[in-house]
Amino acid sequence: MKKLLGLVVLSTLVLTATPALAAPVKFANCNALIKKYPSGIALSSKSANKGNGPIAKPKADKAIYNANKKLDADKDGILCEKVVKAAVTPKPETTGVGLDAITKDAWKLAQADVLKTVAAGTLGSVSFSYVVGPQLDQSRLNSRKTALESAYKLWSKWYQPSAVEIIYWSENDAAWAEEKLATGWNYRPDLKAVADGEKGNCGSAAANGDGRTTSFHECVGTNLGNVPSSVQTTPHEYTHLFQVRHGGCALYDWYCEGGAAYFGSTIGNVDDASGEKRLAQLRLWSNNLGANKAAVASGDKQTVIRLLTEWQGDSHTRDAIAGSYFLGNLATEVLVAAFGVERWADFAMSLSGPYDFEHYFKKSFGVETQTFYKIVADYVTDQPEIFR
Ligand SMILES: [Zn+2]
Repeated sequence: MKKLLGLVVLSTLVLTATPALAAPVKFANCNALIKKYPSGIALSSKSANKGNGPIAKPKADKAIYNANKKLDADKDGILCEKVVKAAVTPKPETTGVGLDAITKDAWKLAQADVLKTVAAGTLGSVSFSYVVGPQLDQSRLNSRKTALESAYKLWSKWYQPSAVEIIYWSENDAAWAEEKLATGWNYRPDLKAVADGEKGNCGSAAANGDGRTTSFHECVGTNLGNVPSSVQTTPHEYTHLFQVRHGGCALYDWYCEGGAAYFGSTIGNVDDASGEKRLAQLRLWSNNLGANKAAVASGDKQTVIRLLTEWQGDSHTRDAIAGSYFLGNLATEVLVAAFGVERWADFAMSLSGPYDFEHYFKKSFGVETQTFYKIVADYVTDQPEIFR
């Protein structure tokens, strides 16, 4: 029994040994070799590819390699390498859920990403200089300072001006503020008319478009605590400074005002986990739609799409700017929920080229604006509570 087994083993050995003893095949060229060895042949398993790559793992066989050595064009110990197609460059990482997952609760995702970005931001060594009107309420000023620090941190990964100057004035300081703006910015708005018009609710503000100083001014009225939108003004103007730095604000209305209104209100409304403050603000701003409010409130999606299409350009009409505080704000909220703050910042920074919203939008978010506006229209009309 033992002998028989030995015989069987021996004969097996003889059979398998036969091909190994034969001289390795010489192939005429790589086309012929890869029919038998599709991933090529390596001198040893340790041979490292020096040519184009990445390559599929070659079969290591010294004898076959040596027989076909002339096929190793780059003399790296591997012949007839099979280059594997490089993987398609993936889209940049996004913290969002994508447009397909947008529901009426998307505002929570967007808010969480904004707050996370603020928390991860830094003040670096920025110096804020506050030029404060003589009649401005001190506690109100302190809340503005906190909001400004949050706004600075939100954009700090992409934008870190070393100094920011802010002129805060009350409705009783208009003459003082006019003089400050004229000497500091060489800017001569009629602030007296603004203050008289807005009275204690004064909340008018503007970011300085002059690149020599990073600055904005803001009227902080004495009744401003009663105006839900007042908390957003400082981070709104600071967001404009980031946008203006890259040129997009002058060209694209809903992007400009909607972006500033969204980030301004999300940062300005601190402790708003329930969304009550967001809701109060959106209700106020829904009135900015003017004659279009009734249609949008009744669920007319075509009106939303039409308005966003009109306002994606640079008409700078009062309707476009005011209306963007509402629709552009909600469109920005959808973008942040779907793609994250980081992708929105990349988009903002891409807008410095010639006028072409479609091009930059698709490049950043991978979809046509019209497809996006339909999603925004669903989002807006799914929330009838924002019109009450
Ligand atoms: Zn604005």
